[in-house]
Amino acid sequence: MESEKSKNELRISRRDFLKVSAITAAAAAAGYAASKNFVFDIFSPPVDEEQLQPGYQYSYVPSMCGICSSVCDILVNVEQKGNYIRAIEIDGNPLSNLNYGKLCARGRSGTLITYNKDRLKKPLIRTGPKGTWAFKEAEWDEAIQYILQKFQELNVQPWEIVLSGGAIPCANYRPEFIPFTFAAQIPTIAGSPMQPCLFGEHLGINLTIGTFDIHGDELADDFQHSSLIVIWGNNGNPAGIFVNKGSRLGKGLANGAFVIVLDPRQSEAASKADLWIPVKPGSDLAIAMGLIKYLIDNNYYDDYFVRYHTNAPFLVYQENGVYVPYTANYEDGTVQAFYVYDEISQSIVQVPPYTNTNMYSVDGKTIRPALRVQNLTTPDGKQLITVFQALEQAVSQFTIDYVTQIADVDKSLIEEFYFRVGTMRPIDIATGQKGQEGSYTTMWRKAIGIIMALTGNIDVRGGWIYSGDHREGAIQLFQTYNSMVNSGQVKPGILIQRPQVLMSVPVLNLPGQMMQYVATALAYCNPSFWQHGHPAVWCAYNNTLTSQGLKPAAAFSLFPDTGIYEAMQGQVQWNGQPYNIKVIMTCCVNPAKNMQESEWKQILQNAFVIMVDIFPTDTALYADVILPDATYIEREEPITNRGATPDSGYRRRWQAIPRVYPYTIPELDLFVLLSYKLGFFEQYVTWMANSLGLPADQLLQAMQKEMMPFVQYLEKYGTYPRWGEFVGKAFADVQSKIIAQQLNTTPDDVLSKLRTEGVITVKTFEDFVQNNERIPWNIPAGLPTGRIEIYSTILYYYVIKNFGYDPTWDPILAYVPPNWNAGYAVTPGQFVQPQPPYNDPTFKPTPPEMFYIEFKIPPIAYTFTTNVPILEAITSNSYHTNIYQFAWINKKTAQSLGINEGDWIAIISKLNGAKLIVRAHLTEWIRPDTIGVPEPWGQNNPALTYSTRSLKNFGNRAVTNIWPQSYDPLTGHRMAQQFTVLVRKATPDEISEYTQLAQVQTPDTLPSQENIPGNYTT
Ligand code: SF4
Repeated sequence: MESEKSKNELRISRRDFLKVSAITAAAAAAGYAASKNFVFDIFSPPVDEEQLQPGYQYSYVPSMCGICSSVCDILVNVEQKGNYIRAIEIDGNPLSNLNYGKLCARGRSGTLITYNKDRLKKPLIRTGPKGTWAFKEAEWDEAIQYILQKFQELNVQPWEIVLSGGAIPCANYRPEFIPFTFAAQIPTIAGSPMQPCLFGEHLGINLTIGTFDIHGDELADDFQHSSLIVIWGNNGNPAGIFVNKGSRLGKGLANGAFVIVLDPRQSEAASKADLWIPVKPGSDLAIAMGLIKYLIDNNYYDDYFVRYHTNAPFLVYQENGVYVPYTANYEDGTVQAFYVYDEISQSIVQVPPYTNTNMYSVDGKTIRPALRVQNLTTPDGKQLITVFQALEQAVSQFTIDYVTQIADVDKSLIEEFYFRVGTMRPIDIATGQKGQEGSYTTMWRKAIGIIMALTGNIDVRGGWIYSGDHREGAIQLFQTYNSMVNSGQVKPGILIQRPQVLMSVPVLNLPGQMMQYVATALAYCNPSFWQHGHPAVWCAYNNTLTSQGLKPAAAFSLFPDTGIYEAMQGQVQWNGQPYNIKVIMTCCVNPAKNMQESEWKQILQNAFVIMVDIFPTDTALYADVILPDATYIEREEPITNRGATPDSGYRRRWQAIPRVYPYTIPELDLFVLLSYKLGFFEQYVTWMANSLGLPADQLLQAMQKEMMPFVQYLEKYGTYPRWGEFVGKAFADVQSKIIAQQLNTTPDDVLSKLRTEGVITVKTFEDFVQNNERIPWNIPAGLPTGRIEIYSTILYYYVIKNFGYDPTWDPILAYVPPNWNAGYAVTPGQFVQPQPPYNDPTFKPTPPEMFYIEFKIPPIAYTFTTNVPILEAITSNSYHTNIYQFAWINKKTAQSLGINEGDWIAIISKLNGAKLIVRAHLTEWIRPDTIGVPEPWGQNNPALTYSTRSLKNFGNRAVTNIWPQSYDPLTGHRMAQQFTVLVRKATPDEISEYTQLAQVQTPDTLPSQENIPGNYTT
């Protein structure tokens, strides 16, 4: 395989590189120009086009959208005359096979984020009470000095700081932010997308197929080649939010794929479906388990794939109610080999601990591992079965009749769904954004991963395809393992028991789940990783709870907000001392609304809060210092990978216009400047280089050279240069040389191609197939055993070994009932037995008691996009207001409760009494027992001109206000839909309270008081 790869690396000659790019660019450009009715080539230099505007020049700057985790490839259309320059429109890059030239309404309106009158324009320092707008404007130096002074006054230690990031840092800046925490010795990051997305939604799938971020950069749903597309959960990410999925879904629909949507609500995705199944909230796991049973019972599974490329044939035995892998072990107790039953030799044989196939035993013999065995025991008499048989046992009770009862839909709908999944190929199951979230979520998503594995739809056209970048990481890991084993540096073993192998690959190059494992277990939860001996607060909280005989609050997680609130209440201990939290530093995230609102308002109220952002979000009402950031079209950043596309390659964010406000500093520069001021610049740059496998000395040298002019400018003028970004420039200097070597071209050619076309493709999916680089067909998956793991070895060897067994983290699959108003949703670490009728999975509430769901709406991704005037207008025109800003309630249910269209209603959690006051939209397109609430609203900061307009429809509390304050014990996410609600008309007092704006103490510092300058000189 190594020779195949090196051959391929050399395959693109410089001549080919330029030729291929010219052809593809010309073809795509011609199509694009025709679609725009333009007469010029988009990739030519700026033109003086008299027909359009005399004297004006127009050009397109390729870049990357920065609004959501889809990170689409864009073209920023710029007009210029003399020293006037302005971005006038944003289009999709037609050369991109991430978003195929398509953008959503949010991406299209990106210029209105930059030219928004509410933008933060100068550093601000708090002058009045928290919870109000009370600030004075400050110079940068003054703001930084103030922060340092407060740190001294409060005697802040690194572990007492929480760095909080949102979807933008998560999808765009992991390579810069994770190293920042290492260098600054800050062990706690709390990320808002981490909790509901990466852990509420992804973990079960990740543990099965080896990914980490299946929305943003590791998995491409290949809908355009699917025969069957299943969109499962609230609006699904293809229709709900991500154009990288939506553009493929469009192609799938055009190609005639049959589409099934499972959702209690007729979402945008469901409106495109051939079959909409309005399943009962909380029934998804039962439906998935029934489908697994159906596939196995009817032999609709892919015998070859399951036998050879999953760990279904591994032998297991029961110990204390848990299935444990039957393994040969070394003296130190680590796994030497797994056992399977070979149908050829009719004997138990050992298979390698980490590889991609079960076709060979450890001694190289060809075997045929059995999926079912009989009458096998270990030498000490323990009954052996296969993982496959244990899976059969786990799903045995989920007959179609029982599933139909739980899902509360017509049996024929479930039958058709199961039959189509059983018989159609290829299939793709897209999971929802903010789908059902309870303690059953991980098992449900794990079941979906198992269904995709059973049907053999992993890394095949029309199914789930790994991104090129993920695949390159998996190849690098496989090569490293082989070379270390062959040279005798390590013995063969499973990867989580061979940290030497994992540490030999730059952490951010590790494929998905292995990156998470290293970060969780070997870094953030490992006290000895940190000089001060404190792990992340969520790990200390796990420790505190388990020492009290309770379950953990985030057994296998990364960057949850778990334990921060409790630490501030004095409930978290480390080494017998209280684990204090004193400082919250937010970057492009709005925890006052995106995280559990009632808790986070208290956290922000009681901590020293530093906020970096472009908008005065509701978090600004609690900030002590606000530092203004530049927008994504005002930034120039490091070269990065291609995102969730099957191809590997490069792209880059280029600055399209000079920064509109001279006091704004792009956040990457800001973080490096902070490290420089605080004295850990070298450590930070070295960590960044090492985490990405770049030469540290070169990056350090480039960074020093590029940074100093910016430092001097800032010192001399107090403002920041309008053009350029030293971090992006320094990275690109180093990266372009390495990429040029890889592509046999020059660094200038690399940069010029990225500057003119925006993307470079190194290998296509077809190249990977030709090179035998499919996962797990040829290359091990990014999991400890390298196979697709129906048996999760991370759950067994890490979670169960550390925290004991719980059905929430069963290594195979366990039914976790919805446990309405109970389970782990009540108190952290404590399972509360649900009382009748909530202990019955077939339970259905009778209004006014109802199920509660939240849903994403396509025009709004995160709370900051509510402040974009055109998006606000789209969601509040005469047709859309009720659909996008009101809670959905079934007409008949509403009538029975005396509720009319547009009435204010109270939605009150039966779990803890938390409340939302919103207007009602009456519709037939939602189940009668379910109320559905759109997710993005609830801002009340008067500094947000547009966001606050929804106050008259949705009130001033975000949906997170109604979330439970407890945590899922495995992932740390809030069980945002594990409770029922009572629905009634709201009282006048409630309406008045929930439609108040926050107070303004210093109106002259409201950002919108300042006009946007008309001309932008360079
Ligand atoms: S889906 Fe829309 S908002 Fe998200 S990156 Fe793409 S264009 Fe931007």
